[in-house]
Order: sequence, then C-alpha cells, then structure tokens
Amino acid sequence: METQPIMNHQNRNYGVANPGYVPAAEERPAMFAPPAAEGPSAPPVGMFDSMPGYEGTVAGGGGGFLPPPMPIHPQPMPEPGPEQPQWNIPSISEDTARDAFVLFASSKCCYSKGPAKDGVITAMDAFNTYRYRLETYTETRSTEWSHEPYHGQPVDAYAQPPPGPWDIHTKTPNFFVDDKQVIKVPYTSSMKSCHVCVGMGRKPCKDCAGAGNKVCWVCNGSGYRHGEDRCHHCSGRGRENCSHCQGQGSRQCEMCHGKQQLLVYINLTVKWTNNTDNYVVEQLSGLPANHLSEVSGKELFRDTQYMVYPVMGFPDPSVVNAAQRFVKEHQGKYSQTSRILQQRQTIELIPVTKVTYLWKGKSHIYFVYGNEFKVKADNYPATCCCSVM
Ligand SMILES: [Zn+2]
Ligand SMILES: [Zn+2]
Ligand SMILES: [Zn+2]
Repeated sequence: METQPIMNHQNRNYGVANPGYVPAAEERPAMFAPPAAEGPSAPPVGMFDSMPGYEGTVAGGGGGFLPPPMPIHPQPMPEPGPEQPQWNIPSISEDTARDAFVLFASSKCCYSKGPAKDGVITAMDAFNTYRYRLETYTETRSTEWSHEPYHGQPVDAYAQPPPGPWDIHTKTPNFFVDDKQVIKVPYTSSMKSCHVCVGMGRKPCKDCAGAGNKVCWVCNGSGYRHGEDRCHHCSGRGRENCSHCQGQGSRQCEMCHGKQQLLVYINLTVKWTNNTDNYVVEQLSGLPANHLSEVSGKELFRDTQYMVYPVMGFPDPSVVNAAQRFVKEHQGKYSQTSRILQQRQTIELIPVTKVTYLWKGKSHIYFVYGNEFKVKADNYPATCCCSVM
C-alpha cells in the first residue's frame, strides 16, 4: 500500500508517550486534572519534518524567505524606449483658472465666493513640471510551516520530493497591481497528533477547572437560603453545572476542532508588489512639491518592458539623471530578493499655474495644478470669520 511509509514516518516522529494511540470517545476521561497554566499554542519544533528544498522553513511568519534561483536562460537586454518626437507644453486658460478657483471656494463652507468670482486676474505664470516615475513589478516567495484540523485531507508527504519553491505554478498576476497567493506546497502534508490537546480532541474547561460544576452562586455553596429554605437554584446541592462546558469538565480543542489530529504542511506565500519611485523636477513656483503627489499629469512618455533602459534624450537633464539612478537602484535592490517581472517608466507633465489677482485693491495668489485642476490658496481674503461680502 502506497501510504504505508508515510504512516511509519509519522509514528516515528510522534513525540508523545504512546504514538498512534488515540483513545476512543468512551475511554476518554470525563474529567481532567486541574488545567495547566495557559501556555503558548506554538507547535513544538519536532512536529515538522525536514523537507528537501525547504530546510529553512519555520512555523509562523517572518522566516523562510526564498531568493530566486539564478536564471538559466540569458536575460533579455533592456532596449531604449520609444522615440519621443516632441515634448510639448500646454498651459491653462484664464477661464479654467477662475472656474477651478470658484469650485475651490465653494468647497469651503466658510469661504465667500467673492474673491474667486470677482477678483481680477493680473498674471498667470506657468510653472509646469515633469514627473518621472519608475515602477518595478516584483514577485517574492516565502514559506512557513502551517497546520489545520485534520478532516481527511490528502496526506502526501514523502510520496515524492516536493517541487522547488520557485517551480510551483501560480496564477498570472495583473502587472503593476499588488497581489498575493498562498499555496499549499505539494508533497509536504502529513498528519500529526494535535500538540495542544495531546491528541485528546478536548481540553479541560478553564471556567470550572475541569470539574464540570462550580459553587452555586445563589447560596454560595451552602445549599440553603435564609436559614432553613433549600436553595432552588441548585436544589440544595450547593453546586451548579458549569455553563461553559455544559457540565462536562472539558471543551472541544480549538486547535484541532476536536479532530485530535492536525494536517501539517508547508505554505508558500507568493507576493506581487509594485515598487514605485517618483522624481519631480523642482518648479520654483512656491507650491510645495509634496502637493504634486495628489494629482496626475499629462503622460508624455511611457515605456513598459521586462527591464527598461533609462529614458534618453529628454530635454531636462535632471529627468535623465533620475531615470539612470532609479533604474540602477531598482535592478540592484529588487533582483537580489525577488524576481523582477516587469518595469514601466513614465514621464508626466504636471501643469502648475500661479495666478495673481486683485481683490479690493490688494494682490493675492493661488495655484492651479494637475489634470484635476486642484487649487491651493493660502490667506484667502474672504472667509466668513473675518470679512463681509
Ligand atoms: Zn444553591
Ligand atoms: Zn466548565
Ligand atoms: Zn487538539
């Protein structure tokens, strides 16, 4: 019979006094000795066999990180991205600027629309800027020992060697979208006695210390109330059944769900991560650069490949420098610990307009930025707390 060696193996590694012995339900003691202090339910190390190719795997998260194997086939060389015929720079109109400002003012409950509607625009200065973005889409794999209640799942450890962690097939992820898949590694599943209940399926009840009953709370154990009257609650016994275990003194083991056995196996966690770095050219408008992360721009350039070659020939040399630096950093950082599946580099033009306007004889400014025409206006001149229409 094929499963025989598995059973033998399991028995050898049992780790309890009487391997293989599982008491039938009627043989089990109805009551337990007082329970030991609640210990951690971490499984003993001996519960896990050594699996070829998975020797570093431990129980619980954090361990079992698996760098990818060296590629067998030569990697394709990155190629320069598409040619960009012209890098044109649009700007916004006065109407667009004013509409955005009115929308902004009406979104604030205590702002009067006056300055936005009736302020006279005296200057519109474009501080359009570029954002270079490099995305590196990676896959990482890690393993850990896991277990679950045994209810007849296939037991396949040692039927044949498990496939290598990087040989296991996964779903096809959507590029540049974070995702995760957990896979039970084939040929690592074995059956073990539950370490929490020592294969009993039940544990002493904590609430009654395994007795199944406790002192009657109505008569405090005397069996009588007000002198001669027998306690109705406990019928004079002085004790009442423990409601937590229905008087049984023990409760189902929460680790094995009363199954007495656990299926022990290796879980492979595959994680897909989109690692992104942005570089924004300084625009000297006075608008803090961190505001630009909230908006999108007009995409001027896009290049998606297995590995990208840093963008070339862009008019702003600081963008070219950033591209070279990011590509080098990403390849160094991510190829060690993960498998790079795809890279994408983009250049966006983010419109930034500084608008100067007159309101009641005083000059003020605001910014309109991004495809979304977001507005930033400090010291708006007419908030209801300090001015009248
Ligand atoms: Zn009582
Ligand atoms: Zn109880
Ligand atoms: Zn158990």
